[in-house]
Amino acid sequence: MQHYKYLIVGGGMTADSAVRGIRELDRTGSIGLISTETVGPYDRPPLSKALWKGKALESIWRKTADVTGVELHLGKTATRLDAAQRRLIDAEGTEFMYERLLLATGGSPRRLPFGEGSIIYFRTVEDYQRLRALTQERERFAVIGGGFIGSEIAAALAMNGKHVVMIFPEPGIGALAYPADLSRAVTQLYRDKGVEILTGTSVEGVERRQNDLSLHLSGGHTVSVDAVVAGIGIVPNTDLARDANLEVSGGIVVDKSLQTTAPNVYAAGDVARFFNPALNERIRVEHEDNANTMGRQAGRNMAGAGESYTHLPSFYSDLFELGYEAVGELNPRLQTVSKWKEPYREGIVYYLREGKVRGVLLWNVWEKVETARALIGGGRTFANGELDSAIAM
Ligand SMILES: Cc1cc2nc3c(=O)[nH]c(=O)nc-3n(C[C@H](O)[C@H](O)[C@H](O)COP(=O)(O)OP(=O)(O)OC[C@H]3O[C@@H](n4cnc5c(N)ncnc54)[C@H](O)[C@@H]3O)c2cc1C
Repeated sequence: MQHYKYLIVGGGMTADSAVRGIRELDRTGSIGLISTETVGPYDRPPLSKALWKGKALESIWRKTADVTGVELHLGKTATRLDAAQRRLIDAEGTEFMYERLLLATGGSPRRLPFGEGSIIYFRTVEDYQRLRALTQERERFAVIGGGFIGSEIAAALAMNGKHVVMIFPEPGIGALAYPADLSRAVTQLYRDKGVEILTGTSVEGVERRQNDLSLHLSGGHTVSVDAVVAGIGIVPNTDLARDANLEVSGGIVVDKSLQTTAPNVYAAGDVARFFNPALNERIRVEHEDNANTMGRQAGRNMAGAGESYTHLPSFYSDLFELGYEAVGELNPRLQTVSKWKEPYREGIVYYLREGKVRGVLLWNVWEKVETARALIGGGRTFANGELDSAIAM
């Protein structure tokens, strides 16, 4: 049996940030980190962006093990939590005792009910390495999904000279985040770059035929490729918390100091559902800024800081030569007001509910995240036209 003052379940960016948050206040307390992954924490965003543009794999490692007094238990999965006894057990039956526990278990890719073993569900460095190896030998790739991961992977493969077909049920790329006209423009950009796009189409089966993979599509068509990648969302890893009777509702529920409903147990990152004052609602966020900031805050609070997490996270993405940063709720079902300096290449999209800004998309507009955050947090009601000067471009 091992005993740690601080025990962290998860080996992602949240876990790494928590380790560093703990160390800001407690320089010596023992820290244990248990992760299913066989490598230590690393930056995930480069897996679908920078690593395909020449950045070295070595650049992604967070070097968590270098932090004094941290022990990493890699390739281990926590399977049972006894919060009353402050005890955690892994799949091999090893017991860990803790004083404070953090659940930073993130999410697992949503999977299709077919094609097991033939589809790369893109989430980890291992997935990146598998796809990268395939690109050395093969030419034709299908990407299932038109959201963040699907659009980034499709661009990465196309930029590396591969033939890519994107397949998704929505009417355009990013249709669940961008207004319809912007989604159409992005879809056209991808087509101009040589990416084949099948909108309004679902994959209904994947079959291996000698060296080919055949994708059976809604509408009766079939597409043959060498490899298939899917980015169709994630499901938060809440089983451990649910089985331990912690409150779980679309994520592990935490209070403003990031404590779960069990004493001495915290949660943060992609898995945690928290109240955000600027949006005035409970949210769960699947982005890097939240992983870093919330992870650090959880670590500080485990070490006794007692601070509230009030941060409104931002996020970003790269699509060929375009890129953006965004804050808040990017929901195209809200009222959207677009202000373009150059249509679909440089501008700002505001997402409003009853005249109040809920989200801001900074399309090729940089260093305005704080202004956008203040705009959402300010809670002001905007009349038509008043947004012209809300954020200067
Ligand atoms: C390819 C890719 C590109 C991305 N690009 C961007 C981007 O451009 N911008 C942006 O803002 N965000 C991006 N994201 C999202 C961002 O990476 C995530 O928000 C972030 O990784 C969440 O970190 P996390 O530590 O909370 O969860 P995760 O990264 O999911 O880590 C969870 C960890 O917990 C481990 N684990 C789970 N259950 C157990 C268990 N029971 N026992 C032990 N270990 C367990 C997992 O193995 C994993 O190591 C991207 C994500 C991916 C996959």
